[in-house]
Amino acid sequence: MIQSLLNLEPDVLIRLQGFIFALVAMLLFERWLPARPRGYAARAMSNVSLQLINMLLLISIPLTLTAAALFALFNQFGLFNLIKLGLWTKIVLSWLVLDLIMYGLHRAYHGVGFLWRFHRVHHGDPVLDVTTTFRTHPVETLITLLVRAITVVLIGMPLLGVILYEIIICTMALFIHANIRLHRSLDQIISWILVTPAMHRVHHGPDPVDYGANFGLVISIWDRVFGTFRAQPSSMSEDRIGIPGLVGSNGDGVLPMLKLPFK
Ligand SMILES: [Zn+2]
Repeated sequence: MIQSLLNLEPDVLIRLQGFIFALVAMLLFERWLPARPRGYAARAMSNVSLQLINMLLLISIPLTLTAAALFALFNQFGLFNLIKLGLWTKIVLSWLVLDLIMYGLHRAYHGVGFLWRFHRVHHGDPVLDVTTTFRTHPVETLITLLVRAITVVLIGMPLLGVILYEIIICTMALFIHANIRLHRSLDQIISWILVTPAMHRVHHGPDPVDYGANFGLVISIWDRVFGTFRAQPSSMSEDRIGIPGLVGSNGDGVLPMLKLPFK
């Protein structure tokens, strides 16, 4: 019974529609309000190819966040399956906990040598645009999924919260990497709560003080609370994207990107 529920088509369809809508919107915004010159096509195609590998991987394994939520629900496991609270209170609290865990995981990707091997593929992109979102090593994709699934089970996250979270995280991942220049004051207002492209652009700089800051993915508050917020890139990072030694070392090909962690 659970297996048939896990493969609910409307759930997959909603997520896919959300992804396509967000991607098209970001591509249009990149044309309309670019912050930097456009990236070259070869690396963009490699990023897209890496995303296809990640998608194939995710389709081929039997683990999804909706499966994790249903597992917790049917087994009456996880905090919110055991206590009485309003649905939306549970959903919003779940989002906050999950986003905090993702902030912590991103810091671990930078701070733990084994994890950094995989995450550095993402920081080797010499350009920052919507396709950089796709430049994630499959091992990082798996680790992130596993950490999210464990969190969903432990929280007892409501199914509706999971489906909406997947749309939010996907849209925000595309948005923060997009080559978009928001009006300075609008950017500042948004960045009090949410991560903006300008804020995440700092994280993709070549200087350790830059890529050692702004780890947030959706909510910017964690960086402010834990002292890792940085408003502007350092002078070294002003015109440059990507970490020296990584830019070029994983080139424009998918294979060099896949091999980079094992060098
Ligand atoms: Zn990072």
